[in-house]
Amino acid sequence: QAKAFGAQGIGLCRTEHMFFEKDRIFSFRKMILADTVEQREAALAEIEPMQQKDFEDLYEIMDGLNVNVRLLDPPLHEFLPQEEHLIAELANAIGKSVAEVKDRIHDLHEANPMMGHRGCRLAVTYPEICRMQTRAINKAAIAVSKRTGKMVEPEIMVPLVLEVKELKYVKNEICKVADELIAASGLDMHYHVGTMIEIPRAALTADEIAKEAEFFSFGTNDLTQMTFGFSRDDTGKIIKEYNKKGIFDEDPFQSIDQTGVGQLIKIAVEKGKATRPNIKLGICGEHGGEPKSIEFCHNIGLQYVS
Ligand code: PEP
Ligand code: MG
Repeated sequence: QAKAFGAQGIGLCRTEHMFFEKDRIFSFRKMILADTVEQREAALAEIEPMQQKDFEDLYEIMDGLNVNVRLLDPPLHEFLPQEEHLIAELANAIGKSVAEVKDRIHDLHEANPMMGHRGCRLAVTYPEICRMQTRAINKAAIAVSKRTGKMVEPEIMVPLVLEVKELKYVKNEICKVADELIAASGLDMHYHVGTMIEIPRAALTADEIAKEAEFFSFGTNDLTQMTFGFSRDDTGKIIKEYNKKGIFDEDPFQSIDQTGVGQLIKIAVEKGKATRPNIKLGICGEHGGEPKSIEFCHNIGLQYVS
C-alpha cells in the first residue's frame, strides 16, 4: 500500500506492532512475563520465525527499497492483559496459575510506563531479545538476497537512546550476531546501525551519539513528550484547554513545536553532522505526515520523512 502511495522506502517498521494478532500475542506476552532467561529464550524461539517471515515479506515486497527495522520498543502496559478473562486465558496457555500471572503483572507494573522499561533499555537488560531480532533481520535479508539475486542492505534502528555508551552496548550485540551470520552466508552483505533521537539528552549529546550511529531518525512523538513533560497518552484534554485559552496555537503532538522541540532537532542535526558529515537524517514521528512540520524538517536539512 505504501508503495502504491509512492513510498520510496520504509522509515519505521515498528516490530512490536507485528504482535497484536491473537495467535502471536501469547508468545509476545510469554516473553514479557518470563522471569528467567531460559523462559524468555523459549518465548523468543517461538517469535523468531514469525519475525523472520515478516521481514522476508517486507524485503521482498519493497524490492530493493530501504526498510528501516526498529528493535522492540514496547511500553509494557500496551501488551500486558488487564481483563480477568484475558489473564485466565493467558495463564492457561502458558501453564501458570492465574495468581502467578497476576503477581508477575503486578511486578511489571510501572507508574510511568512511557518513561519506563522500554526502548533500548529492554535490549540492555535483556540482550537476548536484541540478538533474536538481529538474527531474524539478517537471516531474512540473506534469504531474500539469495532468492532474488538483489542484495538487501538492512537498517537496524535502536530506539530511546539517551547515552552513547548505551548505544555502543546494544550495537556490539547487534554486530556480533550480524557479522557471524553474514560471514557464514558467504554474501558480501552490508548493514547499517543507527538510532532514534527521542530524548532531549540524546539531542544535546548527538555529537557523541553520532560516533556510533550511522543515521538519526527523530522520534518526535517521544521527543515532544519528553521535552514538554506531557504524557502522550493522557494530555489531550489539557492541550485542548491550552488551545482554547490561547497558550498554545497548535497541538504540539500534531505540528512540531519549532521553538522548543525544533531547537533540539536543529542542535542534534548540527552536532551529528560535526561528528559524521554524511550522517543520514530523517524523522519518523507522526509529525512526518503534517505539512508545516515537513517543511520545517526540509528547511533544517533532514533527508526524508517517514
Ligand atoms: C516517536 O516516538 O516519534 C516514534 C516514532 O516512536 P513511537 O511512536 O513508536 O514511540
Ligand atoms: Mg518513540
